[in-house]
Amino acid sequence: MSEKKSKSPPKRPWGVFIAILLAIAFGTIAGDKIEIFGVRIFSILDFFGILFLNALTLVVVPLVMSSIIVGISRIGGEEGFKRLGIKMFSFYIGTTLLAILIGLFFVNLIGPGFQITNIPSSQDASAITKELKSDSASLMVVLLSIVPSNIIHALSQGNMLGLIFFSGFFGYCISKIEEHNRATLKNFFLGLFQVMIQFTQVIMKFLPIGVFCLVAKVFMTTGLESLASVALFTLTVLLGLIGFMFVGLPLLLKTIGKVKPMRLFKAMSPALITAFSTSSSSATLPVTIDCVEKRAGVSNRICSLVVPLGTSINMSGSALYECVAAMFVAQAYGIDLSYTKQFLIVILALITSMGVAGIPSASLVAVLVILKAIGLPLEGIALFIAVDRILDMCRTTVNVFSDSCCAVLVAKSEGEKNILTTE
Ligand code: ASP
Repeated sequence: MSEKKSKSPPKRPWGVFIAILLAIAFGTIAGDKIEIFGVRIFSILDFFGILFLNALTLVVVPLVMSSIIVGISRIGGEEGFKRLGIKMFSFYIGTTLLAILIGLFFVNLIGPGFQITNIPSSQDASAITKELKSDSASLMVVLLSIVPSNIIHALSQGNMLGLIFFSGFFGYCISKIEEHNRATLKNFFLGLFQVMIQFTQVIMKFLPIGVFCLVAKVFMTTGLESLASVALFTLTVLLGLIGFMFVGLPLLLKTIGKVKPMRLFKAMSPALITAFSTSSSSATLPVTIDCVEKRAGVSNRICSLVVPLGTSINMSGSALYECVAAMFVAQAYGIDLSYTKQFLIVILALITSMGVAGIPSASLVAVLVILKAIGLPLEGIALFIAVDRILDMCRTTVNVFSDSCCAVLVAKSEGEKNILTTE
């Protein structure tokens, strides 16, 4: 591939770590009422935070489209295409199941819901559940969105699965046409891909400012005391996510991939920070692709498929959260769940997480679907909704790291030699 080597994001983003710490301290101390010259600081941070998020989201559609078209047009005619697909899905399902089981282990061990004495009544929470239900998409709707009837409409709606399907199909058909037309189209989309990567790298220069605005905003409105009110639930989710991200995935990287996990953490740090501050794996996608290719050394052939698809269906952190949340509600309401029901929660968390969009708080809808399917009170969601946003920052980081692990593992299994050699 004749790709010009472009500069990757900064190697040691200490500035961004400092921005996160300052944002947490500032947001918690200042609260959302503080003003400067009569203007609420919250509104200023909100403005710049949204600007940063918009800039990242702007890149997503052309980047994903060009990346998949280039990737599939190269391998569409290859023998190994099917093998690659099987490997990808095995890693997605395997890692997500592992995440859910780790969550299930901690929620049974700690039993956070047994400590809750003040359970919400259906009136308390009907507004929240109504709002979420009106947004919720059934599994049928998610499946139908894979094949959109109008691609322009699908793109304007940010329908990732539709975009992936269309681009994959387009790339596959490119691999079947006459040589000179194939070369023209491939060069065009390769050029578009490189332009979008340049775009991403310019936006990343504003990462510390974007991170500060987004994180401070969350802590201005949420505050640490809300975490304390459901401290055990927060602890359970965090232990599960930490166990999966720092023990489970590194073990897979070491044993199956034969790579040093620390190198992947370093390589992915800009993407992990972006995921943490935006709570959106979709908005983080341009940075994830950039890090997986330029810093972790995975080829465009693998990255262009595994990462965008993973961003849509490999939601390991979200699946873990859904399982813990459903178990937490059952414990809080004193509903004893049999092993069969717990098994059902595991399967439902696996399936619903695949339909969760890569946007903030998308998992809440999936939790409602699970609660309903198991026959648990929907209003139980009110127990932890106040801490959802902060935990969302953490699970989104895990979702993004899990995608990068899948890309590395698939690339290694395909015999790629340049993975994590320099970071
Ligand atoms: N915010 C998550 C993501 O973008 C989805 C969720 O769990 O709510 O990956």
